[in-house]
Amino acid sequence: MAQSAREIFPALLGNDKLKNTLSADFASGKSAHAYILDGPAGSGKRTAATLIAQAVLCENRSDPSHPLPCGKCPACRKIAGGLSVDVLRISNGDHATIGVEAIRQIRQTLYVAPNDGDKKIYIIENAHRMTVQAQNALLLSLEEPPPYVMFLLLTEDSSALLETVRSRAPTIKTELFSAAFVTEYLSSSNDLTPAQKERISAAAHLCGGALGSALNLLKNGEAELSLYRTAEEFTSLLLTGRKTDTLVFVNTALPKEREKTRTMLTLVRFALRDLLASKKGGELLFFTELPSYARRVSIRRLLELSEAVVQAENDIAANGAQQTVLTALVCGG
Ligand SMILES: [Zn+2]
Repeated sequence: MAQSAREIFPALLGNDKLKNTLSADFASGKSAHAYILDGPAGSGKRTAATLIAQAVLCENRSDPSHPLPCGKCPACRKIAGGLSVDVLRISNGDHATIGVEAIRQIRQTLYVAPNDGDKKIYIIENAHRMTVQAQNALLLSLEEPPPYVMFLLLTEDSSALLETVRSRAPTIKTELFSAAFVTEYLSSSNDLTPAQKERISAAAHLCGGALGSALNLLKNGEAELSLYRTAEEFTSLLLTGRKTDTLVFVNTALPKEREKTRTMLTLVRFALRDLLASKKGGELLFFTELPSYARRVSIRRLLELSEAVVQAENDIAANGAQQTVLTALVCGG
């Protein structure tokens, strides 16, 4: 690698691709005026956005003897504490969408020069929740922003952004972690109670590779953890069980609440994703160890079932009767 040895974003776990892209951009002084950070919940988008803002405004940014950002200068500290007037965060809050009004407010402040530093950073969280009108309004600012402005668009689904928006900002993906990595990381954490530590393994599997979700589950999601085992068993039955047995399982062992059923199906999808990844030597996110049947199921079968599970998730989301949807999954999937 031709990049400098300067450490970039030491506080961000994993995410090597993102670090490489940004350190190259920063080193060449050619950082874009907008980036889209695209990745699942809990994969580090907010952390990355904060670190980018710090890297842009860090008072030690030109001194390669410090990591970037240094994390210690007044600018870095203010940003970490949410106190910097030059870092503005926009989100949908309690609303389903980010409307055009929020973007108009950005435009009103856009030409006000930065206060403390020489750059101003707008972080738009849940950018995929922007309405089409909001995105079009933002486009005007993305096309010709003042030279001191940077936009960071955080999204779980960059495909929900207009092509015109996407073409104005490079997309950088934040990445999920393997269950082994999450387990190791959480095990070395000092701020978990002994009871929480006992559930680390389950949370590491349930989180689908998102460290933030794993932490969230440990702190708030006791009930959901048991769903992991249910999903594991259901996946095994769907792939290797007799239909009659699987239907008995559906009727007796599966949760009755709609939301739980959806979560359980999402977990089944993670499990299937693992089984597919294992065929290509990819990393496991759901299983710690591959189940014994993994080698016997074909890629085609896994793809078919994944599609059927997505269909079932959608049907349940659209208020389909759970029993009917799950029976269709077992019999048709
Ligand atoms: Zn700093």
